[in-house]
Amino acid sequence: MTQEFVDVLVIGAGPSGCVSASYLHKNNVKVKVVEKTKFPRLVVGESLIPRVMDHFAEAELYDALNAMNFEKKLGARFIRGEEICVFDFSQKFGEGWDWTWQVPRADFDNTMAQEVVRKGIDLEFETEVLEVSFEGKKSKTIVKDKDGNLKEIHAKFIVDSSGYGRVLPRLLDLDTPSKLDPHSSIFTHVKDINREEGEEGTQISFDILETEVWLWVIPFSNGNTSLGVVGPTDFINSLSENKDNAEALRNAIQKSDYYIKRFKGTEFLFEPVKLENYSRAVKRMYGDGFALTGNSSEFLDPVFSSGVAFATESGMLAAKLYLKESQGIEVDWEVEFTQYMKRGIAVFTTYVQEWYTGNLQTLFFHQPENPDVKEKICSVLAGYVWNEENPFVKKHDHVIANMAYLLNMQKEQSPE
Ligand SMILES: Cc1cc2nc3c(=O)[nH]c(=O)nc-3n(C[C@H](O)[C@H](O)[C@H](O)COP(=O)(O)OP(=O)(O)OC[C@H]3O[C@@H](n4cnc5c(N)ncnc54)[C@H](O)[C@@H]3O)c2cc1C
Repeated sequence: MTQEFVDVLVIGAGPSGCVSASYLHKNNVKVKVVEKTKFPRLVVGESLIPRVMDHFAEAELYDALNAMNFEKKLGARFIRGEEICVFDFSQKFGEGWDWTWQVPRADFDNTMAQEVVRKGIDLEFETEVLEVSFEGKKSKTIVKDKDGNLKEIHAKFIVDSSGYGRVLPRLLDLDTPSKLDPHSSIFTHVKDINREEGEEGTQISFDILETEVWLWVIPFSNGNTSLGVVGPTDFINSLSENKDNAEALRNAIQKSDYYIKRFKGTEFLFEPVKLENYSRAVKRMYGDGFALTGNSSEFLDPVFSSGVAFATESGMLAAKLYLKESQGIEVDWEVEFTQYMKRGIAVFTTYVQEWYTGNLQTLFFHQPENPDVKEKICSVLAGYVWNEENPFVKKHDHVIANMAYLLNMQKEQSPE
């Protein structure tokens, strides 16, 4: 069997793997990426948040992505019947990017992966990891290429960015149930022929159909729009008796007073895809000689579009910590990797949970708006969830529930 020797093996060429590999390469680490599929490949996760821009800039992937003219995302709109709440990232608390992109991920990920290749990084497509064994920190990985040839890759460190492939969580029995309730989604893309001119047509929107059920509308610069419905798994399953995803999605669109006219009858560009019980968690995020990044470790929920941001944050951090360790500086992976990532994950977990209890929706749609509260929540929605100067980060575990309680009490005492 052929053998290869590298410093770092990255498994998966999604955003997490590409950011990690690109940063390592920039710092003269011998890195190899193996990717099971051939790009472009279909993947969900099209609404980004501004925090990702920090990572793309630092990993030197920004210029290639920016050249693609993806639709700019300046904020997000939440709709509940007649009520509308718009967050504008330029109106957020604290420092940070105030825009990002909304992207067809097949093109976006392909652009990133091609840029990684252009930089001279060894990225092998259609090469699947089959087995991994460790001896201390050193690993031996068996991969199979598209012609069925097997190869051994020896690495000092593995960044597992394999997403739902969950290579090391599967092989090392690291999976654990998510704390979040089981939710599912069905999505597709449509040719957005009824799209209005200007902001109305291009603004990313989340339409609340019921407290726990929402529709995403993510317009792309190529004229297509991503449509998806999200909700408790039982509800999503009840949308079509025949388990027909297209029928289920059409039934969900039918429930949207806001979007029914724009999307009724529009042709689906591919058979809608169902992602069942999508939340994931792991028992630990690192071990001797490896780190789990992106969806290979945790995935919460799409409602605040945090998935890619966590994927790039953890991919970048794993790369930095490996680099530090390789320079002979001691790394406390528990503190510097797990605890750091868990702080951000905990903030978004609260926001996701409080979204589905309805408490966060109470804050979003309260009139008159409170600009001070809004800019602080906006900073969280932009992904700046490590900024503890923001009370909506620092006190996330009770501030939303407490404020919603007060607002609801106020409403009960003085109904219009
Ligand atoms: C319904 C839903 C909606 C979502 N919406 C959003 C959103 O709007 N915004 C957002 O930011 N996130 C969203 N997400 C999350 C987003 O999809 C992920 O967080 C993001 O894609 C994770 O990136 P990644 O790099 O970790 O993994 P991926 O992008 O999944 O990449 C992993 C790669 O690893 C490869 N791989 C797998 N197994 C192997 C193997 N054995 N050998 C080699 N390679 C392998 C795969 O082929 C894949 O290319 C959503 C998720 C769901 C379920």
